Amino acid sequence: MITSIRGFNDILPPETTLWQHIEGAAREVFKVYGFSEIRVPVMEKTELFAKGIGDTTDIVEKEMYTFSDRNNESVTLRPEGTASVVRAYIEHRLCNMPCAKLYYIGPMFRYERPQKGRYRQFHQIGAEVLGISDPMSDAETLDMLLAFFKKIGLDDIELQLNSLGCKNCRPVYREKLKQFLSEKKEQLCDNCQRRIDTNPLRVIDCKSRKCVEVTDDAPSILDYICNECKTHFEEVKGYLYLFGAGYSINPRMVRGLDYYTRTTFEITSDKLGSQNAVAAGGRYDGLVRELGGPDVSGFGFAIGMERLAMLLKEGSGSTSHEAGIFIVCIGKEAETEGIRILKELRERSLRAEIGYHDKGIKGQMKMADKLGARFTLILGDDEISKREITFKDMKTGVQEKVDIEGIAERVIDEIAQVKKV
Ligand SMILES: [Zn+2]
Ligand SMILES: [Zn+2]
Repeated sequence: MITSIRGFNDILPPETTLWQHIEGAAREVFKVYGFSEIRVPVMEKTELFAKGIGDTTDIVEKEMYTFSDRNNESVTLRPEGTASVVRAYIEHRLCNMPCAKLYYIGPMFRYERPQKGRYRQFHQIGAEVLGISDPMSDAETLDMLLAFFKKIGLDDIELQLNSLGCKNCRPVYREKLKQFLSEKKEQLCDNCQRRIDTNPLRVIDCKSRKCVEVTDDAPSILDYICNECKTHFEEVKGYLYLFGAGYSINPRMVRGLDYYTRTTFEITSDKLGSQNAVAAGGRYDGLVRELGGPDVSGFGFAIGMERLAMLLKEGSGSTSHEAGIFIVCIGKEAETEGIRILKELRERSLRAEIGYHDKGIKGQMKMADKLGARFTLILGDDEISKREITFKDMKTGVQEKVDIEGIAERVIDEIAQVKKV
């Protein structure tokens, strides 16, 4: 047996129904906020991610699927979506648009240790706003994200907000934090002891209990951000109020990358444990220029589809099939009639299937049951000669003979009744 690659997961029916539901909701919500879909390749030149994510990050150092193609060019399966979207934005001069509001849905790849709900091929829904630095745009995009979660029925989530300052004020905070951490170096976890010099901000984000305790009274970035950053943050909060979006402030939430600026956020759920973010993002005003484009702002987020699907499955179990119809046919004449009815039902967008005659009537009824059909239509010689059809409700077991003419109408009525309940 040939199995799938470790960490590369099949998503099977009926779970795919849930995934379609999530993707459909995203498309619907994002559209009314003026976003358009962009489809970027799953593979890019390695240098894009080295530059766009940062070559000292864990992702680029340890987790990328990087290899040489047959022409000896170094290529990488995308570990995230933002770098590709920004690359496309620059390459196709989308900066000529007044403001680019783009979203993407698709697989990403990271060589991590597979765990429950975490795979090497995983999926994200993400959105980016390029060319706008106005704090109203931060709030509007966050409001869209919350509207999406509301649409799919995930309610016990929290928006956590922070500001990371800018290239003027963050270095001051970084030094202050480094000083604080150096004095307590011995008490930190091994990973963080190493990070004090290279990436001190990540230390206060560390989930290890030791580090959480030690950094409890670490200086807060919000006490060090400059006046411009302070104003931006206050305005984001003001606009969130106008959009009716609730939030809490979390000064410990950081990103390790230099081009992240000002607003940063996570959407968390208690049900997810310590790795509790189901979506995250923020402002990245330096990235477009870093990748060779104009000096314009960026703001974006990504939603983890696997985690989201996990949360929704726990909540509702809403992965069942749509109510369907199964047509059982015995004999050639019955098949002719059966196919005619089948086509009519399908043309009216009802889920309808037909039995294959080599299975016999028993086999066909079994199949109807296994497929979870709500109603079964049975056509045999007896029915054909009387121009009738046996109509069976699979839930109640009740069956009756009805006129073959107008059967499609009858089925549509019954299905509509079922859907109402
Ligand atoms: Zn600043
Ligand atoms: Zn640590």
